[in-house]
Amino acid sequence: MQEVFNFSAGPAALPKPILENIQQEFLNYNNTGLSIVELSHRSKGFFAIRNSAESLLRELIGISDDYAVLFMHGGASSQFSMLPLNFLSKGQSADYVCTGHWSTKAYAEAKKFADINAINALENGDSYSIRPTVAWELSSNASYVHYCDNETINGVAFAELPDVKSKPLACDMTSSILMRQIDVSRYGLIYAGTQKNLGIAGLCIVIVKKELLNKVNKSIPRLYDYKRCAEESSLVNTPPTFAIYVLRLLLDWVKSEGGVDQMYRRSKENSEWVYQVLDNSQLYNNKVVKEFRSNINISFDIQDKDLQNKFLDQAESHKLLGLRGHNSVGGVRISLYNAMPQAGVQRLVEFMQDFEICNVV
Ligand code: PMP
Repeated sequence: MQEVFNFSAGPAALPKPILENIQQEFLNYNNTGLSIVELSHRSKGFFAIRNSAESLLRELIGISDDYAVLFMHGGASSQFSMLPLNFLSKGQSADYVCTGHWSTKAYAEAKKFADINAINALENGDSYSIRPTVAWELSSNASYVHYCDNETINGVAFAELPDVKSKPLACDMTSSILMRQIDVSRYGLIYAGTQKNLGIAGLCIVIVKKELLNKVNKSIPRLYDYKRCAEESSLVNTPPTFAIYVLRLLLDWVKSEGGVDQMYRRSKENSEWVYQVLDNSQLYNNKVVKEFRSNINISFDIQDKDLQNKFLDQAESHKLLGLRGHNSVGGVRISLYNAMPQAGVQRLVEFMQDFEICNVV
């Protein structure tokens, strides 16, 4: 059977060796006679998994002891509410930089809890770009500034970390974590759902500066309380143990493949390959200005919608899956997370070139 390549935006492809490892350990984890999913979250075995996931994450990303690492339920969207719940009390405010679907969703959720200042930073005419930070109307009383590093749907990404002066930065890195080096010390808080570059759905990693934990609101639900979660090693209740186990395997894999620098090199190479095809095409339209192009999620469309459907159908028959754009925008989206092998990108670019030759007269 021809190998299948999964370009889905998430849940995303996992490296084959990890799937095999999970299969092996599923029935008998570490000679315990128990499945990994039967292991108590209070057992020594699970503690070892959890602690090793945290230390690998600290090592790979470069997270100092000034930061707590939390394993939280509910995916990335739950952070859209937890962040304001923890850090905004009555009369307080925050700035939300909107560059696409997810940052706007985060804003809409935060607005339920506080008086939020939305900064529309997406230039959205014939092309997409991010307005420069000097043009942002940041408010003087914001407790933090929230933004999304890589917008998974429109494929718009920040080339550099935005300069918001002395305000703590809170960042949604759901689709970009572990794909390039970051300077954690420049952030107050980073969060990332795990179903793209960190394993499977159901878990969200939160990296938060410890000094901010003293500012956490007192009267919020136990499960949403960052301070409590840090104090109780993310065991406020039963955590998503299987997702934490897969995270540990994934981090081991990234380390063995050469770490974040190597992930970045591959991601750059793979995405440049695809952009070359787009830039030389009369058929595929990508709207993102070069400086703000995502290396991770590449969106484009084909003007003739019948032809676009034909493209998607034929891609599937070439075992190139998960290319249909998000429901809200349609089109085509190529997601190139860390687990995508070069062979997948090669088959995709060859397919795109052949499809154009056969369908452009
Ligand atoms: N933020 C970003 C950047 C995302 O890509 C997604 C999911 N695609 C989310 C938030 C929401 O994640 P979840 O479904 O885990 O809540």
